[in-house]
Amino acid sequence: EERSSLLEEKNELIEERNIEIQQKAEALELSTKYKSEFLANMSHELRTPLNSILLLSRLMAENEEIEKEHQEYAEVIQSSGQGLLSLIDEILDLSKIEAGKMELDRANIKIDEVISNMRSLFNPVAKDKNLKLVVEKTDEVPEFFHTDKMRLEQILKNLLSNAIKFTTQGSVTLNIVKNENLNALIFKVTDTGVGIAPEKQAMVFEAFQQADGSTRRKFGGTGLGLSISRELAKLLGGYIDLKSAEGEGSIFTLTLPIDKNKGFEGVSNPWEK
Ligand code: ADP
Repeated sequence: EERSSLLEEKNELIEERNIEIQQKAEALELSTKYKSEFLANMSHELRTPLNSILLLSRLMAENEEIEKEHQEYAEVIQSSGQGLLSLIDEILDLSKIEAGKMELDRANIKIDEVISNMRSLFNPVAKDKNLKLVVEKTDEVPEFFHTDKMRLEQILKNLLSNAIKFTTQGSVTLNIVKNENLNALIFKVTDTGVGIAPEKQAMVFEAFQQADGSTRRKFGGTGLGLSISRELAKLLGGYIDLKSAEGEGSIFTLTLPIDKNKGFEGVSNPWEK
């Protein structure tokens, strides 16, 4: 008799706790939803005035009738505005990913188009720094690849711009190869730059983290690029790996399954390895 009432009491307690947990989960979900709505609205509100700053400063920078010195001021406004715009985009991307609202737009894309886009985007920057830039693929790489082109290019742009940013001499290479065993395409970005110390290699993928506290001043940047890239790689069904030696350079590899429904041959959850 006594026992069964004790048991009943316990069951009631468990039931109460379950309800509490459920309420907390619902509250958390709601606050995540409000946060991502807030960020989406804010980024729109921030972008509108920023667009006029960008447009008008560009007109001033290009206006031959304005004094040279003032044209240069306008150029500074222009590049600061661009920096702010990419920061807003990055924060929005990260919050969309966090809220599970990042939507992919998959299609059959031409690998050669990605190659030529990366070449035309980064050749001028590499040239400015006297670096050799090589972007190439091997023969087995198929002509078409089913993925989200914009997001794939976003990852590659992040890896290539980092590689160029953290390299003062030598070369930056993007190699695209096919891995038969994994049935995957591998995008390998190699640089001969400053490299990353072993104990900092995991950290660079965390949001707002930079390997060297002084790099923010020296090289600029937000520390968001790699964490976004890693999340995007996951969404595309793959993962990013890093090999690096301080003073020698870094190799970032993006591995994506060729058949996203099958994933990697024989590997169910490659990013949890
Ligand atoms: P950001 O470049 O805006 O700082 P990222 O998330 O792209 O942010 O990179 C985080 C940090 O990882 C960088 O600040 C830098 O310290 C390190 N890092 C990234 N790529 C490289 C590279 N190719 N060589 C050396 N360090 C790198």
